[in-house]
Amino acid sequence: MIIVMRSGAPSEEIERINVECREWGLEPEPIVGRHKVIIGLVGDTASLDPNRLEELSPWIEQVMRVEQPFKRVSREYRHGESSEVIVPTPNGPVAFGEAHPIVVIAGPCSVENEEMIVETAVRVKAAGAKFLRGGAYKPRTSPYAFQGHGESALELLATARQESGLGIITEVMDTADLDKIYEVADIIQVGARNMQNFSLLKQVGAQDKPVFLKRGMSATIEEWLMAAEYILAGGNPNVILCERGLRTFDRQYTRNLLDLSAVPVLRRLTHLPINVDPSHGTGWSHYVPTMARAAIAAGTDSLMIEVHPNPKKALSDGPQSLTPDQFDELMKDLSIVGTALNRWEKAPALVG
Ligand code: PEP
Ligand code: MN
Repeated sequence: MIIVMRSGAPSEEIERINVECREWGLEPEPIVGRHKVIIGLVGDTASLDPNRLEELSPWIEQVMRVEQPFKRVSREYRHGESSEVIVPTPNGPVAFGEAHPIVVIAGPCSVENEEMIVETAVRVKAAGAKFLRGGAYKPRTSPYAFQGHGESALELLATARQESGLGIITEVMDTADLDKIYEVADIIQVGARNMQNFSLLKQVGAQDKPVFLKRGMSATIEEWLMAAEYILAGGNPNVILCERGLRTFDRQYTRNLLDLSAVPVLRRLTHLPINVDPSHGTGWSHYVPTMARAAIAAGTDSLMIEVHPNPKKALSDGPQSLTPDQFDELMKDLSIVGTALNRWEKAPALVG
């Protein structure tokens, strides 16, 4: 962090600021120019609020950060190495990260009944998905829209987990539901609308299941990474970042604007594994395969795809859901792109 003093700042005032900074455990390094003095602050400034520093003296012109405000999620924190999130599932551990094959998460927007969730689970597993997604608690814009079946849907997810061996990912909306969700979920999703629900972030940071943190619909990359920082600061290092599209002015042809440029940006800024959700990102099943392929080309570590046995009858997000047959086709397609980039799991060798 750097403090820029106004021209003509008295030396006693500069000394007073130096003393104050030392009291905060920082080492001030003044640089005296012909007109201005600049004070470089060496030490742990990550948790320091620049506005608070500015209030130290009317002679301070500006306080500037030279490092990122996020620390634990930053790539430097791991000395430039990517981290991995390893999730135990009934079918064995699944690793998310730059050094691993792409992990595909698939399933319906909401868990509607046992038959549909088990059928979807079996189909997406056969096609190569490693996790089943499905909402029990749904964040809906309208209070009159289907809100999810809640606790009974969690039981259905447990059944689907048992039947398919897939790991389960489902969303927590309320801290009060976290314990129940913890019992069933292998990964806990924090949705776009809750990306800055700081009490929820603290709670998921204080438990040990991996967290799938979706980007808020109008969140900057810095706000998103700061949200992840809450979870890491709370003691949970296992966070996967999911790009799910941003709200823009044009909603005529797409629901959101899928920000694929976030993938290389995140790769540079953070060590955390990256996921792209082209289903919410575009809002239309027709565009999902193209953007899923593009996400792999952009360097994502995983994908989240909505799949429903009968999208026309879906209680939420039908228009963006693929049928199981379409998902089979997509996975064949993705295996070509993924294999070309050396990011696709190799088929097990046939014995005999
Ligand atoms: C979802 O995953 O079904 C969902 C509601 O996503 P988002 O939070 O990205 O809107
Ligand atoms: Mn959905």
